Amino acid sequence: MDRSHGQISRDCPRRGLPLPTFLITAILFGPALSSARTQPQTMPASPAQTQSQAPADKPDPTLTLAIGDPKLKGKTMEIGPGAILSGRTGQPIGFERMIDEMLAARIVHVGETHNSMPMHEIEFQVIRALYARDRHLAIGMEMVPVTLQETLNRWTAGILAKEEFLREIRWYVTWNFNFGYYEKIFDFAREHRLPIYALNAPREVITKIRMRGWDALSGEEKALFPGVPDVSNQDHRTLIRTVFEAADIPHAMKGAGLDQVFEGLYRSQSAWDEVMGANAVRAAAAEGRRVVVCVGSGHLLYNLGLNRRAYEMSKLPFKTVIAVEVPAERKTLPVSRALGDYVFGLAPEEEPAFPAIGLGLKKVENLENLVVDPKPTDGVAAKAGFEKGDVILSVDGKAYTDINELRMTLAKLACGDVATFKILRAGAVKDVPFKCEKAPAADPAEKRSPELILGPGLEEGQSPERGQSPESQTLKTPAEEANYLAYSQNEAIASFLSALAARTPELRVSNVGRSLPDREYGARDIFLAVLSEKPSAAPEDLDRTKPTVLFTAAQHGNEQSAKEAALWLLRDLAAGDLRPLLKKVNVLVMPQTNPYGNFRDVRANELDLDMNRDHVKLEAEGVKAIHRVFRRWMPEVTIDVHEKGDDYYRVSIGCVSNINIGRGLQDFSRQVILAEVDQALKKKNFTFFEYLVTEALGVDSSSGAARVPGSREAREQMKRYSTTDLNDGRNSLGIFETLSFIQEGASRHDIETLEARTAWQYNGLRAFLESVAGHAPEVLKIVGDHRARLLERAAARAESDPVHLRMTYVRDPAVPELHLKRFERGGTAAAGRVLRVDKRAGETVSAADFVPTQGPGGARVVDEVVKHWFPNVEATLSVKRPRGYIVRGDRLDIVETLLALGVDVGLVTRDAFIEAEVYEVSAVVPSPADYEAPESIDVAAKAVKVPVKKGDFYVDCVQPAANLVPSLLEPQSAYGLIRYWKFKLVPEAAGLFEILRFTGAAAPAVIPYKSWPR
Ligand SMILES: [Zn+2]
Repeated sequence: MDRSHGQISRDCPRRGLPLPTFLITAILFGPALSSARTQPQTMPASPAQTQSQAPADKPDPTLTLAIGDPKLKGKTMEIGPGAILSGRTGQPIGFERMIDEMLAARIVHVGETHNSMPMHEIEFQVIRALYARDRHLAIGMEMVPVTLQETLNRWTAGILAKEEFLREIRWYVTWNFNFGYYEKIFDFAREHRLPIYALNAPREVITKIRMRGWDALSGEEKALFPGVPDVSNQDHRTLIRTVFEAADIPHAMKGAGLDQVFEGLYRSQSAWDEVMGANAVRAAAAEGRRVVVCVGSGHLLYNLGLNRRAYEMSKLPFKTVIAVEVPAERKTLPVSRALGDYVFGLAPEEEPAFPAIGLGLKKVENLENLVVDPKPTDGVAAKAGFEKGDVILSVDGKAYTDINELRMTLAKLACGDVATFKILRAGAVKDVPFKCEKAPAADPAEKRSPELILGPGLEEGQSPERGQSPESQTLKTPAEEANYLAYSQNEAIASFLSALAARTPELRVSNVGRSLPDREYGARDIFLAVLSEKPSAAPEDLDRTKPTVLFTAAQHGNEQSAKEAALWLLRDLAAGDLRPLLKKVNVLVMPQTNPYGNFRDVRANELDLDMNRDHVKLEAEGVKAIHRVFRRWMPEVTIDVHEKGDDYYRVSIGCVSNINIGRGLQDFSRQVILAEVDQALKKKNFTFFEYLVTEALGVDSSSGAARVPGSREAREQMKRYSTTDLNDGRNSLGIFETLSFIQEGASRHDIETLEARTAWQYNGLRAFLESVAGHAPEVLKIVGDHRARLLERAAARAESDPVHLRMTYVRDPAVPELHLKRFERGGTAAAGRVLRVDKRAGETVSAADFVPTQGPGGARVVDEVVKHWFPNVEATLSVKRPRGYIVRGDRLDIVETLLALGVDVGLVTRDAFIEAEVYEVSAVVPSPADYEAPESIDVAAKAVKVPVKKGDFYVDCVQPAANLVPSLLEPQSAYGLIRYWKFKLVPEAAGLFEILRFTGAAAPAVIPYKSWPR
């Protein structure tokens, strides 16, 4: 057929509704009509926005109003189909460039005409492209009222099948447009676990404001809004008035009452924009994600609608996309540069994607069947010849009692399909054929590809997801392979590492340990991946002109995202966009240190050990492997990856706290590396804060002992940095003067959030490594200097060279309190929630360890002022570092532990008398729990001349473990071997402590002691 005059086939009714008249009438005629038709609240959109067939010679006045941004108002630009123009410059902009600019925005508003498929396609493309750059994304939707948020959560969580979802959310009662328009967006959100936030208020509340004013609302209804809607913006008023007057308003409505009608409409429009704006802000704040808001264009034009109001409330930067249809008769259309930040030109859609049904239905009292009301005037129903009051007995033989159910059925009809209605009219049963007639032959509209929609020369689809280079796409991590629906296990990791190594010459994978077999789960290999520009299978091959960074992941088996993120990082370093970092750093990754815990999804390993409390006694195979790797490769930097509770701060990194470690390392960690990570993550809209621990005032629960220290009465909570204990992975490697860190990703420990939390972890690790690489020479120097100075200090044996054995957390007078943000979810402490972190008995449990019962929409972000803020650590007991220690020849258990920790131990080769100090114990109160130092131990060092025998052990303090050795071997140490019952080191009162401090001038004759593998 000839479309040259803009004639549209009515065979399959285009758009169905003679817009905008219908919308205006729906609004003006009030709730009876709108609810009967289940018409959504629809802004009286401008003619161009509704794609009515405005003749080319009668341009849409709403597109060229002199309103909006003062710098742009009154200036126009010419938009043609397929083009994207930047309002700021008035010039064409590429799609990818536009997306880049959007990365500065926290909220991206995309306007739609609800029944325009090309506009939904723009929404989808924007969502997909933003997600490809930064997975920390959420979607806000006008189509759903906030009261149905939980259903959206269940959709994203993958709990609901599509039909179940449409039923539960009552899509065709809530919203009048075919779900097919939105399906791609919903599918994408579910596939990638993106939260979708409902933005709308219940329809009847908006109607009430229009009909009866703000004051008519109940307190509960008012609470839906941020406050009394502001109606003072003159430009916005001009916009809505223009839309109002351009609309074909029924004659009866014009005249004296018109201003009053407009006021009501304007009031409700303002309230509506305000509530959706506030909900968009809330969505952006809930998890700190960037939000793409999908709403009718009328809410966004000239940046005066909900976008303006959201900005005024939050100051969150935003961008707005508006699409306009350029009439077929014209090449271009003038539009104001203030219309939106980006304006898309669309060719007229030849036909709608879905036939408009146009069937109003209602329920009447004492009747199960549905009744037609009003008489259909448009859409398929108008042609079918329904009358008002027709009682629907069945459709294709099936009876319906629910409007949503019938609409779901009708929504599935395509052009060409016929459904037969059996109705009761005036007492007689009648068949009514309901025919979606065959649309004209397929034309470009049906074949419209993203390129056509987005315009020529766009790079849509060229940017692979997650910002990796296409190369890295060739190999998925095990979690990606499983679509993040399963935790990756040892076998999958092994094959992934093999595949990655096969294609990456710079990657060397080795087996550095093996977990023990359990009844249910056999022994598994523990892997080390070494990535360096110069392939290095052994430390001797490593290029030491670059710093070496060791990543250890998932010591706690149920902290699954640590491992998935480590594998992702490894892939991107080996074959993705992080490859250039290998020019600056060597990277070691131990992606799975606790295969058993991962398999069982529990915290502990196969021996029920909390591996991150095992770094002194080294009983866990995974921990032994970490220390073997550390001492062989001596990385300058280490980071141990964990998960914490569902914290507002999605990523946290902590540095060392034990003050035996050079202060300069802690300062550099915090002031340089963590500051940069903070900045980098902020740019990507990930919330970050240095890792903090919350516990009861006066209680230090970090030892890992299986009891609650201190009294059990309720105490106030304090915050501090992570533990000073050496039995955790961070300080135990840091004590060798290493820049050592822990990363904690927020977690609900459920599979539904695996993809999101893996992305948080990945971005944290990535920002961390980028920062380290950016400071490569400084990192080498600062660690090298500290390590050298430690050896010098130990060799000098100066009086002023203490080793700190006990420490306490203290306040910083200059920083009396700390300001944080946190999630607040209704209800008290643990009520109705599930503890999902597999805590060891005695560990502190905080609110963050509970899985909230609400979804993302249920959380509020609140400010928190921490009064008890203990950022500093002070020594409470220090001793002079001796020259060395003597350990009796029968204490192989101690010696082997020392060796496993990388301590050099000498074997005495001949009997001799030596000068030493022995500790005389005057009083001792043993600890009631393993892992804890004696409650008190009073000792006095006494100079003695004692015999050593051939076969005894000598541990010299002039070695890289110079700080570790006294920390482990002194009886009063809060970090010592004396804490662990297995060593039986707690002496009797009036006895002697069995390890001697060697004070002689020359070290005894020794040979290095080796423990050969059994
Ligand atoms: Zn952990």
